Amino acid sequence: MRLVRYLVHDDVRYGVLEGDRVQELLRPYFEGLTPMKTVRPLAEVKLLAPARPSKMLCIGLNYRDHAREMQTSLPEEPVLFLKPATALAGPEQPIVYPTMAARLDHEAELAVVIGRRCRSVPLDEAGRCILGYACFNDVTARDLQAKDGQWTRAKGFDTFGVLGPWIETDPGDPNRLAVTCRLNGQVRQQSNTDQCAFNCQYLVSWASRLMTLEPGDVIATGTPAGIGPMQPGDTVEVEVEGIGILRNPIVAEPDKGAKPATIL
Ligand code: MG
Repeated sequence: MRLVRYLVHDDVRYGVLEGDRVQELLRPYFEGLTPMKTVRPLAEVKLLAPARPSKMLCIGLNYRDHAREMQTSLPEEPVLFLKPATALAGPEQPIVYPTMAARLDHEAELAVVIGRRCRSVPLDEAGRCILGYACFNDVTARDLQAKDGQWTRAKGFDTFGVLGPWIETDPGDPNRLAVTCRLNGQVRQQSNTDQCAFNCQYLVSWASRLMTLEPGDVIATGTPAGIGPMQPGDTVEVEVEGIGILRNPIVAEPDKGAKPATIL
């Protein structure tokens, strides 16, 4: 099942996407799936990021091929960093290339979306805390990542946490999905979540041992090899098997500086 958030006349709605039609839900999907009679063509709604996370937990160096690319070994425990809620962006929304950065990279990832409030979840119960899965682009200012020694700035700009185009509740085995990144139609990253050192259920269980996970929170599970730069005017696509394609244009930050983020 594909769960969507979308705009109708500036109002945020939740729905279920079936084919090219969106059936509206009475309440956010975290509160149960109660369908309403209203059905709209997908082409007539504007899709938003399918969740509004209180935090985005991102995993560094989870893929064997990416660890080789970065000339480092896989960590014994997951490497965790956070993106602020203001970094959220949705499908088709422009990713803003900051004037402060000299290199802007794509990182195609599978995102786990939390469905219920949880803490200290045993591994064998982690699946019950997961609402579904989405594509994620962990946009990174690579030069600032190296310069700063920690990643808050490099990973935290507005529009650097791209989530969508929807939440797929059953993409198949989440630990065996092809992950692809294309830039202007050219394949840049191609791997499979079976290359991850830490799988989805493990990451939920592990992360819940350090902080409370809220409905809509996101765990981005890391990126495979093939990270590379993007430029204003490019179009980047993250595709995850069984989910769909998350597509965004890159634009330059305006000379006067960016406006405040509108997180709907
Ligand atoms: Mg990443």
